[in-house]
Amino acid sequence: MAKMHMQTPQLLSIGTKRRDEWPLSLSSDDFERLEWQPVAIREFILKINSRCNIKCDYCYLYELSDDSWKSQPVFMSEEVARQAASRIAQHAEIHQLESVRIYLHGGEPLQMKPHRLRKILSVLSAASRSDFEVRISVQTNGILLSDEVIDLLAEFEVGIGISLDGDAMGNDRHRRDRRGDGTYQRVVESVTRLREGPHSQLFSGFLATVDVRNDPVACYEALIAHHPPVVDFLQPHHNWDNAPPLLEPTRHVYGDWLIAVFDRWFGAARVETRVRKFEQMMKVMLGVASASESVGLSPAASVVIQTNGSYELLDTLKSAYKGAALTGLNIFDNDLDRVLHHPMVVAGQLGANGLCSTCRECSMMRICGGGHLPHRYKSGSGFLNPSVYCGDLAALILHIQSRLLESCKEAGIDFTSHTLQGRLRNPRVGALQP
Ligand code: SF4
Repeated sequence: MAKMHMQTPQLLSIGTKRRDEWPLSLSSDDFERLEWQPVAIREFILKINSRCNIKCDYCYLYELSDDSWKSQPVFMSEEVARQAASRIAQHAEIHQLESVRIYLHGGEPLQMKPHRLRKILSVLSAASRSDFEVRISVQTNGILLSDEVIDLLAEFEVGIGISLDGDAMGNDRHRRDRRGDGTYQRVVESVTRLREGPHSQLFSGFLATVDVRNDPVACYEALIAHHPPVVDFLQPHHNWDNAPPLLEPTRHVYGDWLIAVFDRWFGAARVETRVRKFEQMMKVMLGVASASESVGLSPAASVVIQTNGSYELLDTLKSAYKGAALTGLNIFDNDLDRVLHHPMVVAGQLGANGLCSTCRECSMMRICGGGHLPHRYKSGSGFLNPSVYCGDLAALILHIQSRLLESCKEAGIDFTSHTLQGRLRNPRVGALQP
């Protein structure tokens, strides 16, 4: 039987070299051989605005070679939102999903004027039915979060996640506006407005990008001063072709940074916030499935819908190479099951069979899961490599493991080979070579 490759115009435009790389090189025969079990898409990132009001220097959308945003309409139209809602509802019905989450994203989503935003929110909310719930969140840089906007978001029960990298010095290292001025003060004013107003329950937490030059504990303490329910720390988006700043082969500067935050968080006398990365790693150590695409082996199930209605893959893939997030599919011509069969989506759902041999033989594999997909990229082998943060992830996992075991011992819990320690030993995977 002939192999079926997904060769859309966009995939063709990224060149043969990339198409020969893993996972774009996978065919439908390979999906079967690798025992792919399709998992329905439950997270939809809707780009309602393709531009941004600030200019963070590490931004993987606007500061790298991928300038596909330039050809996108500035705002998502009501027509595109309606068709997106219809595709999402169709997908939910086919796969009998009880709920999905829609993240409003950009650029900066709150650059959309409130009257337009109201229309988009009305259209998306209308997709909910008695047996199917659409939950909406927005990820914003916070600068345009006025009382009027907060009231509007409250009307549609939209959760509000805010990007902030720590204290003023840490945040303003990278998160500056077009004049070059730091954004910290304006963001903090918005966070305070949200927290102290009548809709504080909408505050869903901070997204913070790690810069190892910042003091980790000072960064964490600056964030928890605003009482976020959750903090999510992200490593900057780099890969083997484009190494992270200050990464050293013999030291784990990113791992050490996160370990310092972990010790401060784990050692607190009371729960001050939830830290997503640490919680997910601890959950996986205890045998619970991860809810994070970048921890453990749980299948990833998210898709981006651009302002013009084209389907794209994880935005962060754009940090690997120009065009890495393109699918060549769109909401008007294609249903979501078509996206589900894209090799990059399949790759995120293969568990251990979607990892390189180094990861499959690694004792951390079940917890680490090879790290965030874009961080595994290397020209030639594509995404079939350990994370460029491999040593850092291993150091963090070992540290969390030993703190957990210490705590259990102190509490008089005796773990045997069948429980935590058993889960952490080198697993033997029925490995299939991609
Ligand atoms: S620690 Fe490194 S080798 Fe092990 S699973 Fe993670 S990325 Fe792969």
